[in-house]
Amino acid sequence: MSDVSVNIADFHWGLQVMDTIDVGLVVIDRNFNVCLWNSFMQHYSGIGSDAVMDKNLFTVFPSLPKDWLKAKLQACIELQTRGFSNWEDRPYVFEFKNYSPVSHGLTTMYQNIVITPLKALTGDISHLCIMVQDVSDVAKSKIHLRESNQQLSLMSRMDGLTGLFNRSHWEQCLQQEFDALSVTTQPSSLVIFDIDHFKKVNDCYGHSTGDDVIRRTAAMLKKTARQSDLCGRYGGEEFTVLLPETSADQALYFAERLRKRIEKSVVETEEHSVSYTISLGVCEFNSSFSSHTEWLQTADKALYRSKQSGRNQTSVHG
Ligand code: GH3
Ligand code: MG
Ligand code: MG
Repeated sequence: MSDVSVNIADFHWGLQVMDTIDVGLVVIDRNFNVCLWNSFMQHYSGIGSDAVMDKNLFTVFPSLPKDWLKAKLQACIELQTRGFSNWEDRPYVFEFKNYSPVSHGLTTMYQNIVITPLKALTGDISHLCIMVQDVSDVAKSKIHLRESNQQLSLMSRMDGLTGLFNRSHWEQCLQQEFDALSVTTQPSSLVIFDIDHFKKVNDCYGHSTGDDVIRRTAAMLKKTARQSDLCGRYGGEEFTVLLPETSADQALYFAERLRKRIEKSVVETEEHSVSYTISLGVCEFNSSFSSHTEWLQTADKALYRSKQSGRNQTSVHG
């Protein structure tokens, strides 16, 4: 066998390898004209080798991120180093659809890309090889894990019955606000409130109606509060609201608005129409407080005064 026939034989099985591997391979020259387009690329793009050979890559594949990819390819030529693209920075370069057994349908293929400069016999960079790796499975598991963790962290901050912050997270927010207030002259206020004679609601209408009343209270609170207010369910039928950048007068206005809304609202069940009221305590931040707990206790004292003075009212500390 001559040397030439050996080279052709080597080239022949070399091509078969390129067509068998489960990775996309594209070779382009310095003008971005396609010289190699393996089976992987043909299969996922739906574009046959004949339709791309000797054509400009960006013409046959207009959906490519042209400016970004051109700059990347150019840098590989100039620096004579490999270039990379990771799915976490750029989910894909070639927009391919892929059947995913995880999501039971067609989804966009996540890709890692490696660009390798190829040298001619002269030693100059004459071509570039773009390797496309399908990393959809890894990417989807990672995204799913990230979403689950976000969901878990959200759930650990929320009260299940009302969707408000739970006590521990709300207290954390209060502590943070308290610390921040030591370096600002902005006012900030706390409102704490409790449903009046709630035991009677449970006793007369049942626990499930009691839960409806708690949920309604939370809904009214959300409706009355601003986006920046932090609303929490502090205990069974006790709620707390942190109103940043709010004076005692403004907090009193908020508290009275909420109280009147709740007084007017009726929780309808199959058998009953339940009316109820709340009592509230308001306390503006004061630099003499030694801790966030003292601030909260002072607001609670104001709430206690409202209860003592006949309920369905707001008391302001100071
Ligand atoms: P006051 O006007 O002085 O606040 O009287 P009250 O009856 O509202 O207060 P008390 O603290 O004596 O009763 C609160 C009741 O709330 C007792 C408890 O069984 C009930 N409770 C606590 N958490 C829940 C809950 O998640 N769902 C229901 N339905 N009831 C709850
Ligand atoms: Mg109560
Ligand atoms: Mg109570």
